[in-house]
Amino acid sequence: MIISKENDDILVKLIFSKNGKGRFCPKRLKTLSQEQSQYFKTRFSDSFSDRETALRIKYHIDIRPVCETCGKPVKMNIRLGVNSPK
Ligand SMILES: [Zn+2]
Repeated sequence: MIISKENDDILVKLIFSKNGKGRFCPKRLKTLSQEQSQYFKTRFSDSFSDRETALRIKYHIDIRPVCETCGKPVKMNIRLGVNSPK
């Protein structure tokens, strides 16, 4: 699978509830095909977690955000946007 918005959208529909509009369901990663699973794992080489990868795919965050104050990578939160890691 080539990295593309179309493939990202396919993944989002598979691993988020409500056809991509709900929350991230980590259990669904086990239901992906080998190809889809590989796509997910290699989508962001700098991702710290499956959850982060899922959210970055969903919200098209190709570059990992950093805290404007301290420059550390931020923790991503689906409701609050981004938080400083401290
Ligand atoms: Zn900070």
